[in-house]
Amino acid sequence: MRPRWFAHVDMDAFYASVEVLDRPELAGLPIAVGGPSDRRGVIAAASYASRQFGVHSAMPTAQAFRLCPDLVLLPGRMERYQEKSREVMGILKSVAPKVEPLSLDEAFLDLTGCERLHGNWSQLAQRVRMSIYEQTGLWASVGMGETRRIAKIAGGLRKPRGLVVVDRGAGPDFLAALPVARLWGVGPKLRQRLEQLGLLTVADIARTPRAQLQSMLGKTGLALHDMVHARESGNVNPGRAHRSVSHEVTFGHDRVGHDQIEPVLLHLCEKVGGRLRNGGLCGRVVQLKIRDTGFHTFTRRTTLPRPTDTESDIYRAVRHLLHDMKWEQVPVRLVGVGVSQFSKSTARQGDLFASRTERSQPVIDQTLDKVHDKYGGSSIGRARSLLRKLSGDSASWQEQLWSPLDRNPGDQSTSIPASTEHTRRPT
Ligand SMILES: [Mg+2]
Repeated sequence: MRPRWFAHVDMDAFYASVEVLDRPELAGLPIAVGGPSDRRGVIAAASYASRQFGVHSAMPTAQAFRLCPDLVLLPGRMERYQEKSREVMGILKSVAPKVEPLSLDEAFLDLTGCERLHGNWSQLAQRVRMSIYEQTGLWASVGMGETRRIAKIAGGLRKPRGLVVVDRGAGPDFLAALPVARLWGVGPKLRQRLEQLGLLTVADIARTPRAQLQSMLGKTGLALHDMVHARESGNVNPGRAHRSVSHEVTFGHDRVGHDQIEPVLLHLCEKVGGRLRNGGLCGRVVQLKIRDTGFHTFTRRTTLPRPTDTESDIYRAVRHLLHDMKWEQVPVRLVGVGVSQFSKSTARQGDLFASRTERSQPVIDQTLDKVHDKYGGSSIGRARSLLRKLSGDSASWQEQLWSPLDRNPGDQSTSIPASTEHTRRPT
């Protein structure tokens, strides 16, 4: 096999940096993009100046203001971030034959076989970082190494404007020096298990014989062994960009009962459906996420008989999941809807047994999309989700800013089982 070579490019404080680019007077100020604190907003991105106060993404905005009373909070402009993201990805595609975006501001590059073309890797990393800056006005950090994981970890070590190249053959030593928490892809549960086994550092894992890791952790043990010895075979997959499309909202006031939750779910299904159709995607797995007032998060997912991009299919599945979860009495703080396991929308098969209304659904959705494109997202919607607006309630919930390519940032696992499954049930 040809010796592999990967780069990981990650924009520095992306949303916040785009805001500073467009409003230079904000430069150096502690700024953050996120939802308002009085409506239980959450920080989506924090500038480095605000990070010095301890502000970070996924933190409740109210807490961010407690840490940094002078924080400049901005509402976020996803379209503008997408525009800048396209510029960045365009530059990356001119550098590497295979580019896999992980989110709006982050991508893997497969540079295997490009040695002759690009010469010295450090110089290439510098060139990539400079061309991104010169062409977009934004800084990135770049990591390079012989596996994707090494490139990704290296890229995160010296942010912002970081540049770390781990030479071929140096991968295992580079990894062994890291704490287990730095191993990208090793979530809190696995970390806890490793701790119980006395494997506290990457070096501990590297010292453990392969067979012993396997007997202790099964397949995961083998994967860990490959990982720490830089023997992974992971590929850069340009088509893997979309893992899931999701939207969620945090309510200003807790909601109790299906009647209060369902109109919001329908609205979220419309948004998810619109984005699927925009991306030419159909998904088979539908997920419902609910957070109670104690910050316990419950997710349930179901696999549809065929891939879909219509809100009626998504909503029907979400409603079933909601009713199965029996949330009738429990106050709810947040709900989210997601669709994953994609195929291209041309793969959608007509259902011979679909009713007339069902068959006309794609036409209705496309019409809604056209109206949305022309007049904006809130110009038209289904009657049930409009009820929410008529009741004047729309101001009481705030939409979470969500990158279209992003997985749930707090969610370590991206694998989705083939059948209905659920995490803990509400008690
Ligand atoms: Mg970034």
